[in-house]
Amino acid sequence: MFEEILVERLIDESNSWDRVRQENEIPAKMLAFCWRRYDSTRPEELFQNTRVVLGTLLHRGLERYFGYEDKPTNVLKKKVGDYVIVGMPDLILGDTVYEFKYSTRSPKKPREWDIRQVRTYLWITGKPKGEIVYFTPWKIGSFEVTEPATDEEILEWIEHKWAKYEWECNYCPFKDECEHSLIKGNDE
Ligand code: SF4
Repeated sequence: MFEEILVERLIDESNSWDRVRQENEIPAKMLAFCWRRYDSTRPEELFQNTRVVLGTLLHRGLERYFGYEDKPTNVLKKKVGDYVIVGMPDLILGDTVYEFKYSTRSPKKPREWDIRQVRTYLWITGKPKGEIVYFTPWKIGSFEVTEPATDEEILEWIEHKWAKYEWECNYCPFKDECEHSLIKGNDE
């Protein structure tokens, strides 16, 4: 069936891109979420979610539409303290860094974790402006982000490795055993 061929292909592609990360390298996206959950999510699991499949296909389409020359060809890196933050924004056009998100609902305001990701990209690239673009089946909406993260914030986010939002723990396979879980009543 086509859906199986598609998912298998996306998993293969994702595995082949699985970068060998140096010990001190931290993906920009990881700064917005719980590191343990982020690191343990395998592509096989990820692509069980149709929303993730659709979001990935949307990204591929936009990359092709705008041309690869507009996308940073290498992973961008910036050092802070003993760490190196690595990231690859979805698209950079002129002075603006774009981050695309596929969602079933159109948010009234940008999501905190998306803002943090774009602020990290502004910090890495030195660009003055970012835009988070939410695609839903009914609407495309953008929100501007102009404040880059600071070195101090990045170091603080590195320090705070665990979940920032209860929903992260709700979706986490470690929620029943994790001492850092934010689920209320977890220790009852
Ligand atoms: S339960 Fe929450 S804090 Fe613990 S690993 Fe999972 S997401 Fe992180």
